Amino acid sequence: MPNWEGSDRRSRLPADWPKRRLRVLRRDGGQCTALTEAGGRCISTATDVDHVRPGDDHSDSNLTSLCSYHHRIKSSREGAAALAAKRRAIERKFRRTEQHPGLL
Ligand SMILES: [Zn+2]
Repeated sequence: MPNWEGSDRRSRLPADWPKRRLRVLRRDGGQCTALTEAGGRCISTATDVDHVRPGDDHSDSNLTSLCSYHHRIKSSREGAAALAAKRRAIERKFRRTEQHPGLL
């Protein structure tokens, strides 16, 4: 029987994650820390605590408060970057010399 416990992303969070999350939300004043295109700070209430650098660094300095909107944008950007890196690796393997018909 394979043990699937531990394969979930959420399970990699530390046991005291709820406490850390609250501490970071409080530190950031309960407000999203994302910057708007105008250069100001997002005024939305923070609902999510996000890792500044993705990975397993759960220290306060690597955590920041985001609203659900900015969290979604950041997460999808990280997902897209991972996908693009994978695609580049595949393209290196199967490089074509002729142009894409759409470009002719
Ligand atoms: Zn925001």
